[in-house]
Amino acid sequence: MSNRIVAKFGGSSLADSDQFRKVKSIVLDNEKRKYVVPSAPGKRFSKDYKITDLLYLCHAHAQNEISFDDVFKHIEDRYIGLAKELEVKIDIKKHLDEVKKKIADGASADYTASRGEYLNGLILADYLEYEFIDASEVICFKNYGKVDLEATQKAIDEKLSGIERAVIPGFYGAKDDGTIKTFTRGGSDVTGAIIARCVGAELYENWTDVSGFLMADPNIVENPKPIEVVTYKELRELSYMGAKVLHEESIFPIRDVCIPINIRNTNKPEDKGTLIVDDNRPISYSGTITGIAGKKDFTVIAVQKMLLNSEQGFCRKLLSILESNGVSFENMPSGIDSVSLVIEDAQLGDKLDGILEEIKKQCNPDSLEVYPNMALISTVGRGMDRTKGISSKVFRGLAEGDVNIRMINQGSSEINITVGVENDDFEKALRGIYRAFAQ
Ligand code: ASP
Repeated sequence: MSNRIVAKFGGSSLADSDQFRKVKSIVLDNEKRKYVVPSAPGKRFSKDYKITDLLYLCHAHAQNEISFDDVFKHIEDRYIGLAKELEVKIDIKKHLDEVKKKIADGASADYTASRGEYLNGLILADYLEYEFIDASEVICFKNYGKVDLEATQKAIDEKLSGIERAVIPGFYGAKDDGTIKTFTRGGSDVTGAIIARCVGAELYENWTDVSGFLMADPNIVENPKPIEVVTYKELRELSYMGAKVLHEESIFPIRDVCIPINIRNTNKPEDKGTLIVDDNRPISYSGTITGIAGKKDFTVIAVQKMLLNSEQGFCRKLLSILESNGVSFENMPSGIDSVSLVIEDAQLGDKLDGILEEIKKQCNPDSLEVYPNMALISTVGRGMDRTKGISSKVFRGLAEGDVNIRMINQGSSEINITVGVENDDFEKALRGIYRAFAQ
């Protein structure tokens, strides 16, 4: 492993010149921090605008032939202010004028949005005295929109060879023909992960405005404990269920090469944050869980049929009904005579009645019931399969929290116990489970 760290800084870490100063002192504090990936400037205060949102707005205005001068002025003021306060040498006004002209000339939404990171990268590179490498030269997309890791590796090998320290803007790259392509929102996290992979970094640091993951949502549970170490797999389960700090796709580029990710807080650099490690790394297991996360608004379709276990093709029929309606499911707990489909309401839209009709017709069930307004809560922990008493604690926590459990599912990965409760019991359930483990 090389002695390089890739450090990605999120929008709030680069929202104003004071934040830039913090970033500089963090970068200079460890000389291994050789590659820095910035987001676009984020909000400075809660009612502030994110530059990326303003850029999308400019694009929408331009498309509808409405003047975007006023919106662009906000963008200009932010960057010009930054450049001035940080006393950088680049002529940021010249770059802004170019961007404005391209938007007026009909540039794509991806190009327009990517300029947030591009302009911020120019300023940061100058301020850190690092080389600026345009992400369009090193992050390669296939024409149908997926990242081309092989081409990216080659481009990074070529471009970064001989460059000791560089700033590479996050969020975008380019297709073969040079057109700019962005990741989905929050995608600078993915850029950082790709760069970390391609330079063989020993660590990928992701600097943000929280000190990593907490065991539960702090808006629901009072003062939850931080998670110090979490595996990729656990994190997938937790973030899928709503624990959001990192873009979901950031794990994939580095999972097979086992580069750890450290989530750190730019405003509290003394905090250790959360370390995300590979699934096989031996970790001392403390006998408790890693975290709890959940989501509201699911519907359960419960299908009962005698001897369902011996009827071949029953589940295939059921699932093909969902498929033909363009609906995916979250969970499918089953018993000998019953199977339930847990579906997110956002997926279901107004398709429920049609789906029920088709199930009746094609599967001929003994009974078909629908339970709306359900919430799912996952309790996640890597040692679960080897530790006695975890599930009893989950259920004790729920009972003591006075919550009725409507559904239970232990994920086949065995690092997760998921329960379904009424939407109205969601918060109580989360607190109950947390309490059972926090004692
Ligand atoms: N600036 C982009 C966004 O707001 C990407 C990022 O911040 O990671 O989504």
